[in-house]
Amino acid sequence: MTIRPGAIAGGPGSALASALVCAGCGASPAPGDPYPFRCPNAGTGDDTDHVLRRLLDVRAVEFPGAGGGDAATNPYLRYRHLFHAWHVARAGGIDDDAYCALVARLDGEVAKVDGRGFVPTPFFRAGALSDQLGFAPDGGVWVKDETGNVSGSHKARHLFGLLVYLEVMERLGRADPAARPHLAIASCGNAAMAAAVVAAAGRRVLDVFVPVDADPLVVARLRELDARVSVCPREPGVTGDPTYHRLRAALAEGALPFTCQGNENGLAVEGGFTLGYEMATALADGPALDRLVVQVGGGALASACIESIDDAVALGALPRAPRFNAVQTEGAWPLRRAFDRLAARLPVGATPGDLREALAYAATHRSAFMWPWEEEPRSVAHGILDDETYDWLAVVEGMLRTGGSPVVVGEDVLVHANELAVSTTGIDVDPTGSSGLAGLVALRDRGDVGDHERVGVLFSGVRR
Ligand SMILES: [Zn+2]
Repeated sequence: MTIRPGAIAGGPGSALASALVCAGCGASPAPGDPYPFRCPNAGTGDDTDHVLRRLLDVRAVEFPGAGGGDAATNPYLRYRHLFHAWHVARAGGIDDDAYCALVARLDGEVAKVDGRGFVPTPFFRAGALSDQLGFAPDGGVWVKDETGNVSGSHKARHLFGLLVYLEVMERLGRADPAARPHLAIASCGNAAMAAAVVAAAGRRVLDVFVPVDADPLVVARLRELDARVSVCPREPGVTGDPTYHRLRAALAEGALPFTCQGNENGLAVEGGFTLGYEMATALADGPALDRLVVQVGGGALASACIESIDDAVALGALPRAPRFNAVQTEGAWPLRRAFDRLAARLPVGATPGDLREALAYAATHRSAFMWPWEEEPRSVAHGILDDETYDWLAVVEGMLRTGGSPVVVGEDVLVHANELAVSTTGIDVDPTGSSGLAGLVALRDRGDVGDHERVGVLFSGVRR
């Protein structure tokens, strides 16, 4: 998400090249707030969709070119000039060398905990997979492989960005390292594993709220990493994710949201921007992607991709944005429900003005579009079974703006796509991780994706 120069909130004369602004009400956290994660007007009980987005003044920054680093450069260093933490650090008097040293030190701690630090993950045209799906030689499937990322999924990206921010706050004297609030997350797997690794690297206490059916191996690993695990059963008559209810209670008591849910922590979405930036760098010398098909649970992965690719386009690093398709399962598709309701408000031949009007309406009438899925969802792609798509509006907007749409896939397609992914690429991706590919398989079966299209998918997590 980019904005017009001079439109940055934070006050006239603000030197920052980025700001955190609520997409629902336009409010920003107070200047100097060490934990500017949630809209100050959230929780007031109105029907506004309070989600902070990181907006970038594209006139004030440049997308790093070839001199920005090499294939092994940590993405939080390579793209640091685009990150809110760097803008705040520089404005507070931390020089660039000190910032780089801070990121490098934390990355080293991550490597000690997890055996690997952050480097750009592979992004390549998957030849055999493209052939299997009947693509022409100039089209095909480009895979962004996150299975070898820190903790085995993309989730750590969101949380490492947060850890850097928290450390910057301490360096600036705005937070007391001797009185660190606990961190908290609700997760059933990859996000919890990532949070535990990153929290351990930052030497911070982490509370993890997990469902009763959480994988025992994951729970054991969380405990090894010194996370404090609470199992949360569903309560009769209470809708919504019980782990999320427990997270909310912990946050009300002062814990910090170490989550990948944009409504709880808008800054966490920004950490995921490294994904889109890495894809933009890799695509710099070739034709653009025509389409990006992304699995959606809580929505942070998709919104991070959409917003970071928007940045890359606005900064001239990409010629245009791809069409976005979001993928959910037949077990739960709250995003598709919201998309259909918003699309129904648009007239035939809708103009950009019509779209803006519909989005503005949705931002202040959340309950007409998004509410918890009524039944307890089940799917082989259990990592995207969030009851709500917390970051829904950014994803719906991205799809409508680019001519994309949501895709809902059945279990047979999810299983088939996973077999196809593993057999053609040799990557040990799990069914959640290949569910974006399942969406592409469904779109190809319907004839909605042409043979010459260049389509990106994300293999978001490794089989455990
Ligand atoms: Zn707000």
